[in-house]
Amino acid sequence: MTSKQLADAVNKRRTFAIISHPDAGKTTITEQMLLFGGIVREAGTVKGRGSSNFAKSDWMEIEKKRGISVTSSVMQFDFEGKRINILDTPGHEDFSEDTYRTLMAVDSAVMVIDGAKGIEPQTRKLFKICKMRGIPIFTFINKFDRDARDPLDLMNEIEETLGIETYPMDWPIGMGRQFMGVYDRYNHRVALTHPKDKDNPYLPLDDDGKVKDENPLADEGEWKDAMDGMELIEMAGNQFSEDKVLKGDQTPVFFGSALTNFGVRTFLTTYLKFAPAPSSHKLENGDEVEPLDPEFSGFVFKIQANMNPRHRDRIAFVRVCSGEFDKGMDVTLERTGKPLRLSNVTEFMANTRENVNKAVAGDIIGLYDTGNFQIGDSIYTGKKDIKFEKLPQFTPELFVRVTAKNVMKQKSFHKGINQLVQEGAVQLFHGYNSNDYILGAVGQLQFEVFKFRMENEYNSQVEMEPMGSKQARWIDPDQLDPKMASSRNILVKDIHGDPLFLFENEFALNWFKQKYPDVKLTAKL
Ligand code: GDP
Repeated sequence: MTSKQLADAVNKRRTFAIISHPDAGKTTITEQMLLFGGIVREAGTVKGRGSSNFAKSDWMEIEKKRGISVTSSVMQFDFEGKRINILDTPGHEDFSEDTYRTLMAVDSAVMVIDGAKGIEPQTRKLFKICKMRGIPIFTFINKFDRDARDPLDLMNEIEETLGIETYPMDWPIGMGRQFMGVYDRYNHRVALTHPKDKDNPYLPLDDDGKVKDENPLADEGEWKDAMDGMELIEMAGNQFSEDKVLKGDQTPVFFGSALTNFGVRTFLTTYLKFAPAPSSHKLENGDEVEPLDPEFSGFVFKIQANMNPRHRDRIAFVRVCSGEFDKGMDVTLERTGKPLRLSNVTEFMANTRENVNKAVAGDIIGLYDTGNFQIGDSIYTGKKDIKFEKLPQFTPELFVRVTAKNVMKQKSFHKGINQLVQEGAVQLFHGYNSNDYILGAVGQLQFEVFKFRMENEYNSQVEMEPMGSKQARWIDPDQLDPKMASSRNILVKDIHGDPLFLFENEFALNWFKQKYPDVKLTAKL
């Protein structure tokens, strides 16, 4: 590729994730988007829905048993001149640290909210990570074909619980059976759910924001309510600021109904106008790598282990940060300084295993891995050493005590744990004054994958004793008095030897804070 070709290709890329709570409509929206675009490549199904796609791909055994996809997958398609990569962020029980890490590999995020439920816990958690990264977040409030909450209420909730400004790009006219459309202030039109003329579902607005021609909704109470709401928003709401949107300080909000395919196309089109192309990535030494740098670089943000004992291979997912990837190219693995040939590459197709020949900054590639990679690894071409910033550590919420079933097999137990922890599959803690092994995770599935892989890859059967959910807080070692610990706040240390308490619940945490007001407690992300 010439530098102009590279620039054209990179500037076309839009790489994002959809963050939402299970059931808000992420799958339905993703499917709509894929339909608009015509899928270029599909890596993993959107969700393990029908069984037809399922049988064709070699999913992990746990996936097969549970009928869900364990890890985030990547979908690529073209739409309106852009090449879009959607990175899936699994929910439910398959929520894991990988879900969080996937957000390190995107340039923007789409937040889908169920209009009847508002902000739910998983949305909040994922939002927090996006906010920390300062990436643009666009909101789609879904299911307005059903009874939903008052849209003003929803705006309030987003602003108050998430701490981000809202800017409604459109405003719903009615809801449920009376959902008549949206007043699209951004595109200067009214979009109708049930237009008389199906080919022309829009009513254009004049310069004062009034419907230009005859307005079939003029006498409806829903129309009047919507206009009242809009007026209030115009008077008391935020000014649109592209600058704030790009920094993640303001979220443009859209209303619609994915199930009836109302509003998703407008959303995608408008989103693509503002969503950023791949930008620079920070290195550990403070430098930045520009996406148009002709040398290739990228980092591993996820490792998907194949649970099939006959196929021990794993797939390392790499976000390309600069240059161009060519199949068979030689790169340096920064951690070891050793050269590697990237010949075995896949996008981990659901339907076909289409090999990737070319990918550019912004794209995700899947590398077959026989144990070379760890999460967070940097790879690059060229003479300059490239080490991307460390991926953040996340605060685990679930804990188990783990022991080897067979005391004679301590060696494989330790080897397995160490490798899986290094790989980022689970987090490891030790009793502060004991040799207890405690595992921490953000999702239950991480423990199941751990157990399965210990047995199948390290021939080590493990016993896991659930400790339940805890609030983990690190404490400054200088302020620590081991007497502060109790059964309601267990003292442990992480793999760096740093002490932390595992609080039984919020109540125990607050009690501790009151008792020791000067002690500084910190959470990871
Ligand atoms: P996900 O868990 O976020 O991926 O949610 P899904 O896309 O699987 O949707 C969950 C359920 O809500 C499914 O039964 C969908 O058919 C339904 N659903 C999704 N979008 C809408 C919508 O706009 N209106 C209504 N009424 N139902 C919807």
